[in-house]
Amino acid sequence: MGVEDTEGAVKAAAEAFKTWQFTTAKQRAHVLRQWYNLLEANHESIAEIMTAESGKPLVESRAEVIYGNSFIEWFSEEARRIQGEIVQSPIPTKKIMVVKQPIGVAALITPWNFPHAMIARKAGAALAAGCTCVVKPAEDTPLTALAMAHLAHEAGIPKGVFNIITSDRANAASIGKYLCENPLVAGLSFTGSTAVGKLLYRQCASGIKRLGLELGGNAPFIVFNSANVEKATKGALASKFRNCGQTCVAANRFLVQDGIYDSFVNSFVGHIKDIKMGEGTQPGVTTGPLINHAQFEKVSSIVQDALDKGAKALVGGKSASSLGELFYEPTLLIDVKENMRVYHEEVFGPVATIVKFKAEEEGLKIANATERGLAAYFYTEDVAQMFRISQGLEAGMVGVNEGIISTPEAPFGGIKESGLGREGSHHGIEDYTYIKYVCVGNV
Ligand code: ADP
Repeated sequence: MGVEDTEGAVKAAAEAFKTWQFTTAKQRAHVLRQWYNLLEANHESIAEIMTAESGKPLVESRAEVIYGNSFIEWFSEEARRIQGEIVQSPIPTKKIMVVKQPIGVAALITPWNFPHAMIARKAGAALAAGCTCVVKPAEDTPLTALAMAHLAHEAGIPKGVFNIITSDRANAASIGKYLCENPLVAGLSFTGSTAVGKLLYRQCASGIKRLGLELGGNAPFIVFNSANVEKATKGALASKFRNCGQTCVAANRFLVQDGIYDSFVNSFVGHIKDIKMGEGTQPGVTTGPLINHAQFEKVSSIVQDALDKGAKALVGGKSASSLGELFYEPTLLIDVKENMRVYHEEVFGPVATIVKFKAEEEGLKIANATERGLAAYFYTEDVAQMFRISQGLEAGMVGVNEGIISTPEAPFGGIKESGLGREGSHHGIEDYTYIKYVCVGNV
């Protein structure tokens, strides 16, 4: 699809907003719940579509569908809790009311790494608030989005309320620009690369659009001397290798204190060797291929750069071409230095790097030395250290002795160049509502 189709979708969404915004919260909650029920009933088929189009192992696709569905469930519940306020007035004859209203048509642009959940997280909140939406899924994963739309229709979400624009890479920029500049679009929510996020931010400036941005991370994962090695290794594996390392909250830099370095590295190496790569539909496979050639080239060149500059690969360090052209071996690099790309860039692949540090302050300083601030993780059994480090880390989300932190009940989002706004939790509704102050006088 292209700009012309997008124009049609935006017009349909604007038309549908005229009535959808006046539905009761209870009606919206009901229809979202119906959608959730159908998504749950069809979760196996959606997972199969996702594995077929993205290569994600079936176990992970199933987990994603359940995770994504839980946002629709959550927002079906939150729809009825979008409350206003009646504020104490300084003048007896004037009453002050604060109400929250839906912003209008929301444009949602989503990435390929979580083809279902990134749509669910945004659309659930938008629809609960009373907005209509135009979704542009990533070019690599349009079919999962279309399956969701099919079920939305079956669930009774009215025509024009939830629209999908599929496109190839060549049309993504013009569709994005159109959505940013169209006056019928009230707000845009984007999850994807920092580079595209910055472009959309600029493009949205002309119309002062409401903007939610979930951009790249560069998550540190600190293992302090006081950590429990077994817990840290398990968390490290989950946080790094889930979805073949292609998640924005993936641990990108392991910072390990000198006293625990050897035991953590030994344990980590052992677990990485156990990872089973292969075709997503095969039983037992936990890690699939990278999404496309661009991603494969990026991962290969980042690792090669590190090896050329003196890093050592304790595991992997090369492609797994016997499995297919997009497979890259789970990799662990040590002796990583500041002059290497891998030290600064978000890898978005199955590559873990370890940097050794001595003092706590040094570890924290390295962790914060990045423009990004999405997730951060650390492991310690020392309670005072837990409070010190969670306060000191410059990130929107912190996992303490935990590698998997995302859930609909909690606010997801970053600081610094990692984005604006929060998704999920009761805060997730805010991007899709505006505050209206109504003053009733002469009463
Ligand atoms: P990645 O590099 O991980 O593919 P992108 O930020 O390029 O991340 O992609 C995320 C989403 O942004 C996809 O839906 C993609 O089609 C879309 N996209 C890419 N370029 C643009 C652009 N210039 N304007 C709007 N959307 C874009």
